Amino acid sequence: MLNEQMFEYGSKSSVIRELFAYGLERKKIVGEDKVYDFSLGNPSIPAPMEVKKALMELLEEPAEALHGYSPASGDPEVRKTLAESLNRRFGTSYTEDNLYMTVGAAASLRISIQAIANPEDEFITVAPFFPEYSVWVADAQARLLVTPADTKNFQIHFDSLKQMITPKTKGIIINSPNNPSGVVYSEETIQRLALLLEQKQREYQTTIYLITDEPYREIVYDNLSVPYVPRYYNNTILCYSYSKSLSLPGERIGYILTPDEADDAARLKAAIAGAGRALGYVCAPVLFQKAIARCADLKTNISAYEKNRDLLYHGLTSLGYECVRPQGAFYLFVKSPEPDAGAFSERAKKYDLLIVPSDSFGCPGYVRISYCVAEKTIKDALPAFASLIKEYQ
Ligand code: PLP
Repeated sequence: MLNEQMFEYGSKSSVIRELFAYGLERKKIVGEDKVYDFSLGNPSIPAPMEVKKALMELLEEPAEALHGYSPASGDPEVRKTLAESLNRRFGTSYTEDNLYMTVGAAASLRISIQAIANPEDEFITVAPFFPEYSVWVADAQARLLVTPADTKNFQIHFDSLKQMITPKTKGIIINSPNNPSGVVYSEETIQRLALLLEQKQREYQTTIYLITDEPYREIVYDNLSVPYVPRYYNNTILCYSYSKSLSLPGERIGYILTPDEADDAARLKAAIAGAGRALGYVCAPVLFQKAIARCADLKTNISAYEKNRDLLYHGLTSLGYECVRPQGAFYLFVKSPEPDAGAFSERAKKYDLLIVPSDSFGCPGYVRISYCVAEKTIKDALPAFASLIKEYQ
């Protein structure tokens, strides 16, 4: 007898994957450049040359060290280098003890949730949210509650959040810059959130962790700066990844940052290590641990994403689409011209436009367009978007 829940996770593919697979088949029929695939969040900017250079240099090093195990939490020298880089950027005083290396943000989140959740504990996230949170929280035998989206500006719907926090609340999961809205939570939002959580901690005499999912931290436009969450709230667990910032999603590399200011920080760090051990997420790939340490202060040139954002946002709004102006990540969140975003996404297929309905992000009535694609794809797709909207006018 199988574990039915695992069977279900493994056999049901996500809407995004389904669209992507449909696109591959469709391309065989009508040609590569006739299908406008905006389904996946796979970075289109190549990894910076410095990453390749670091890898080439590393490959000259003795193989035993390069391909051998590191400690479960990651190479101490790598963690020290990353901690120092964060200290330079954010004025913090981290050491290697504050970091646990992971195979990307997915593992960072899954470990963090496991480290703090007891069965029946509650986590709250904010719509629209990354759908895998539901799987990760359920797998830790906890419950995920979702604060409805604040569709005015896609910040946080504080009235709802306030009502949802109870003595059972173990953690709040946020993601900014946000997938799928592209919105960056403002400093005011983070300050308000921190105040609310502190007030609730005092009221219930509990610890409420703020898990901040930040794979898009470095992908922001208009010279905007993303508030550094641990600065505002002590019980923060920061989940980071190089998947998007260095365009390395296939290499599976990231970290969890646990600040010393968190309640019972030493026990929390031990629980993170314990959860990593229990889940089998130990010793992240050593070659890439070392490579990212050599690129710790590197900033990828994201001007191609910014150009795409402007082209798509201006193109679609001038056609009459209602869009949230993205400040970060590489997604545009567009209001569906009919209430059922699934039906709208189906209709878009007629024009070979592959856009993701928002229902699985907990915010029905929108579609997500991933603009981490070639500029030409956007230019070529705009006439198709024009034909699509005409059906509603
Ligand atoms: N969180 C968000 C919001 C994401 O968009 C993604 C990937 O798209 C992840 C987590 C997982 O990232 P990783 O590839 O680093 O595991």
